[in-house]
Amino acid sequence: MPVSAAAPAAPVPMIGIDLGTTNSSIAVWEGGQARLIANSLGEVLTPSVVSVDEAGHVLVGRAAEHRRITHPHLTAAVFKRVMGSAKRFRLGPREFAPEELSSLVLTSLKHDAEAALGQPVREAVISVPAYFNDTQRKATKNAAELAGLKVSRLINEPTAAALAFGLHQSRDETRFLVFDLGGGTFDVSIVELFEGVVEVKASTGDNYLGGEDFTQVIAQDMAQQFGLDAARLESDGTLRNRLHAVAERCKQALGTGKSATDQLHLDGQERSCAIDEERFETLASDLLARLRKPIERAMRDSRLKPAALDSIVMVGGASRMPVVRKIVARMFGRFPDTSVHPDHAIALGAAVQAALIAQDAALSEVLMTDVCPYSLGVEVSETIAPNQNLDGLFSPIIERNTVVPASRMGLYHTMHDGQTEIDLKVYQGEQRFVKDNVYLGSLKVKVPPLKGGEINVEVRFSYDVSGLLEVDATVLNTGKKHSLTLLGHASAMSEEEVATRRAELSRLKIHPRDDMPNKLVLTRIERLYAELSGPEREAVGQALTQFTMALNSQDTERIARERKQVSQWLDGLEASPLN
Ligand code: ADP
Ligand code: MG
Repeated sequence: MPVSAAAPAAPVPMIGIDLGTTNSSIAVWEGGQARLIANSLGEVLTPSVVSVDEAGHVLVGRAAEHRRITHPHLTAAVFKRVMGSAKRFRLGPREFAPEELSSLVLTSLKHDAEAALGQPVREAVISVPAYFNDTQRKATKNAAELAGLKVSRLINEPTAAALAFGLHQSRDETRFLVFDLGGGTFDVSIVELFEGVVEVKASTGDNYLGGEDFTQVIAQDMAQQFGLDAARLESDGTLRNRLHAVAERCKQALGTGKSATDQLHLDGQERSCAIDEERFETLASDLLARLRKPIERAMRDSRLKPAALDSIVMVGGASRMPVVRKIVARMFGRFPDTSVHPDHAIALGAAVQAALIAQDAALSEVLMTDVCPYSLGVEVSETIAPNQNLDGLFSPIIERNTVVPASRMGLYHTMHDGQTEIDLKVYQGEQRFVKDNVYLGSLKVKVPPLKGGEINVEVRFSYDVSGLLEVDATVLNTGKKHSLTLLGHASAMSEEEVATRRAELSRLKIHPRDDMPNKLVLTRIERLYAELSGPEREAVGQALTQFTMALNSQDTERIARERKQVSQWLDGLEASPLN
């Protein structure tokens, strides 16, 4: 039998993923540049929404987003906000952890990339908010593993944006601030670019501030205008999500006009609501004020004056809001830079990072360093007078804005005579008292019973380039090293659990990729049917019948033709009659 030479192995694709609260996207580094990969609908943004349909098929993206309105009990969104927590989402018969929902989004992106590249994708750089803590980062890594993806690096979102922005700078030396306001998180980084070295000087943020909060304040205001009380909204998920959709549309409309009007079909009537720029600014004033603090802290930490910055780079969908730009312009006395695409920068930057890891020749002149955005340390007690201790104090081991990877040590002693165990509680944050910081986990170190103060324990924190923490403790008296793994929150998944859940997830039926454009039309029609009334609703109902008939014919040409027709007709129907 003739022996055939094996085909040369295709190079491993260099993939970057922006796993966002609202939208996710995937990019690849190819031929010396990063490019976004479109999904089965030809779109580069995939809404981070998961739904289970009547056939038990999992839907991810735009079609799932429509089902947020028609089938709120079978649809989950904004789950990135609770990554690593014990929160579970019930979709029909099954409960999902936030990691699992994220893994379904990642699986969908992975399939899109594989379809586009014609080869398997097994590894990726995934972006996380700079301010994500250890638990949230580990949860993101677990989500990737559940999707069969190895995380070659977690990259901080503003750092990824900085890489995307930095590569296009012609100047050899420049300093800029990255302002990243997404759907659920706000991150700020100060970056210096000098002869190909991209150096993050400081990172700060707020994990609970994003565009979603701005939509919420509008939704609350509109609920008032419509006379809807909290109890009714609480019990009616469809109404709540429809109100949210109206608020979201108005928020976006305020980007191009001074005021916005919209309608909600309520109790058999078409009711309108309105909001103008001024009212929005008043409603959002608390949120706008909260943008200031992380910016001020990043400036202080980097020891730079606003004048030393060459540009303010705005990314994240919510950075498009004029009220936000106005605040930023006021803070810096100049207009922000909008040269990078706010929705694309992070995935592109993550792909640049993937290429840096793969040591792609096109980037041989580029080097990147990042920092740890928060301080990490342990809980201690201090003796303030004989027999008087002050408990619950925070002792930082790695201080914020330390260049990563970093390894730092702290030395601690026992307090009490005969103490046989030290319970090392690990925290993240900047406050003097641990109760005001974020608890990450604890480790118990066994020690021989000696007099208080006689046992010395060396605690080493190693913080890697992905922002993941490892803690080691050595009892100096015995020389015994405790290779201890941080016991995360009870809610974090163990390795075994990841394996079990992965097997379970692999049994889920995913809606076929090829059929997504048709499914999208169906879910969109269903949503409009739920939203509209009267003759319009009837027409939508007829469109559904007609399109279902086309689908049943299994005639691909006819289906494609009718899909195009009905989509255009729906576009016209969706254009607000009031604007
Ligand atoms: P994430 O990174 O969290 O997925 P994105 O960067 O995609 O989020 O931003 C999503 C947020 O941006 C949402 O809150 C959305 O309402 C907001 N957004 C998107 N487009 C606009 C717009 N034109 N005007 C105002 N807000 C917008
Ligand atoms: Mg984002």
